[in-house]
Amino acid sequence: MALAKHDVQPEVCDVAGCSNPAERSFNIKQVSKSSLKLKDEGARQIHLCKEHYREFKKETKTDRSLDQVY
Ligand SMILES: [Zn+2]
Repeated sequence: MALAKHDVQPEVCDVAGCSNPAERSFNIKQVSKSSLKLKDEGARQIHLCKEHYREFKKETKTDRSLDQVY
């Protein structure tokens, strides 16, 4: 019975220096268009907290396709 608390992976914001809980996730291609600094730039899926999501939206509001989360 080696199964321990391994399945719970808290989603935390992927912006460097931020430890807020993640609100949404985006593809790295979308996030790399913004100026947000990421903890792991090799990740495919980037989680953003509420605060950084707003920042991200502000920077990328000219591109409406970014509203699509999938
Ligand atoms: Zn954040």
